[in-house]
Amino acid sequence: MTIDLSEKQRIAIAIGANTGDISANFRITLKELEAGGVGNIRTSKFYRTAPVDCPPDSQDFINGALIGTWGGSPEKLLELCKNIEEAAGRPSIHEKSSSRPLDLDIIFFGNKIHRSENLTIPHKEAAKRLFVLVPLADVAGGWLFPGKNLSVKNILDNLASADRSAYISIISSVVTLE
Ligand code: AMP
Repeated sequence: MTIDLSEKQRIAIAIGANTGDISANFRITLKELEAGGVGNIRTSKFYRTAPVDCPPDSQDFINGALIGTWGGSPEKLLELCKNIEEAAGRPSIHEKSSSRPLDLDIIFFGNKIHRSENLTIPHKEAAKRLFVLVPLADVAGGWLFPGKNLSVKNILDNLASADRSAYISIISSVVTLE
């Protein structure tokens, strides 16, 4: 699908980390996203979450989400996110699910479905992960998942009913970042 770049898109990004100075890395991320052209940023609450599909002994993650506006292509936004991850100390080549000082995933790009070699939007895992959906619902609860006739909140409610204890554990673990 061709994306009309004459218009700014509403975008949503998931942010997570489980090593290093997480507060500092999140603070820097917001500044760098803004400096890189993301406008009108609004952030969710931040949650301590148990590692999912990670190696044994991985530390808990801190997860959040943000929405904003973006006037460039999805690939340019990915490049900005990867540069910020690398500056925070995450190698560009890394094991999947390995511990990380910063992970930025593009969840939504307007209401577009985008598939290229290195980018899938909506993010493949987004609709399956409580640690993505809980913070995302703080800032984008009514956003309809492109390709599904369901909002973020609808999908979160379904997943929360299926795994009540994981949901309760996340929503009761809000953290304050300095
Ligand atoms: P990860 O190890 O989960 O951070 O995966 C990073 C890689 O996933 C990136 O290098 C991207 O090429 C790819 N990727 C595919 N879709 C997305 C997306 N929606 N947001 C961020 N990265 C993505």
